[in-house]
Amino acid sequence: MSDDLRNVVIIGSGPAGLTAALYTARANLQPLVIEGLQPGGQLTITTMVENWPGHRDGVMGPQLMTDMRAQAEHFGTEFLSGLVERVDFSSRPFTLTLDGGRVIRARTVVVATGASAKLLGLPSEMQLMGRGVSTCATCDGFFFRNRPVAIVGGGDTALEEAIYLSKLASHVTVIHRRDTLRASKIMQDKALANPKISFRWNTAVDEILADERGDVNSARLRNLQTGEIDVLAVDGVFVAIGHTPNTGLFKGVLDMDEGGYLVTTGTRTNIPGVFAAGDVQDQVYRQAITSAGTGCMAAMDAERWLELGDAEFHHSEPPASVVVATLQA
Ligand code: NDP
Repeated sequence: MSDDLRNVVIIGSGPAGLTAALYTARANLQPLVIEGLQPGGQLTITTMVENWPGHRDGVMGPQLMTDMRAQAEHFGTEFLSGLVERVDFSSRPFTLTLDGGRVIRARTVVVATGASAKLLGLPSEMQLMGRGVSTCATCDGFFFRNRPVAIVGGGDTALEEAIYLSKLASHVTVIHRRDTLRASKIMQDKALANPKISFRWNTAVDEILADERGDVNSARLRNLQTGEIDVLAVDGVFVAIGHTPNTGLFKGVLDMDEGGYLVTTGTRTNIPGVFAAGDVQDQVYRQAITSAGTGCMAAMDAERWLELGDAEFHHSEPPASVVVATLQA
């Protein structure tokens, strides 16, 4: 057996990847995690996480990911920093080629490459992330109680987040680049009827501005029809212009929907032995806790698949967790 033949290779190191690592490590499978471009995933660019169960006073996102990594390592997970550049799932064991040329063979693979929130591309945006700029209202809305916020985008996510934020913030301004919304009619009706939500049509955010402490205090807006510039006083700017699943590597290999999200049954992809967990296969919930949950499921599936072999795995009853997930899908 080659040294580089692994039982389980996990691509990605967010909550899904690290939970899959923890479970497969505890099952004595010596998993290898390839950490990717952003080790720790999206939580490393947030500040306080208040909806991770068990932390009454919240936990800092980067700290949570450091702890998850240490826990997975404690049980025998091996970590490799780097990117997977190519996968060959056409024969088993699978082959993964990393940047730098290293080749790793794997009996099973868990894809946990996540999704990235699309950003506007403003210099201030990354700089002020966690200081008033956010891409997740459910995660960060609580910090803006009784304060004015803006949300950028005109799709279902933008309006859903606007409605959510209207229960917390003093006022919500939706900034949309056109004069018609992309969101579903029902969502539009709700948002348009909400007295705490107003709309700025045909408008782009030119820059997000901060006070002397470095916290967001306003956004500079440009009317795309008249060119008129004005400054809107807001303490928070939520960017909700869509997500991109990190699935470029798997095009033509793994089944995807129109948005590029991996199509799964439970955590199974169309390739037996390749499982997927977290945001890469979930555009609905997108929470750290749901990612961790599917990471656990993928680990249990990979373990069973290794134990039973392909034929028996597919003919046997899935574990209860998979049945529940499938029923709720
Ligand atoms: P969408 O792609 O549907 O919408 C993105 C919005 O952002 C559009 O209004 C778009 O403008 C705008 N936008 C995109 N790029 C830019 C940019 N560079 N600058 C300014 N504005 C920009 O993404 P969503 O995340 O809203 O939704 C993704 C999918 O998930 C959809 O299918 C949606 O229906 C679904 N969803 C369903 C929900 C539900 O049913 N409860 C809740 C949330 C999402 P424009 O319209 O001009 O293109």
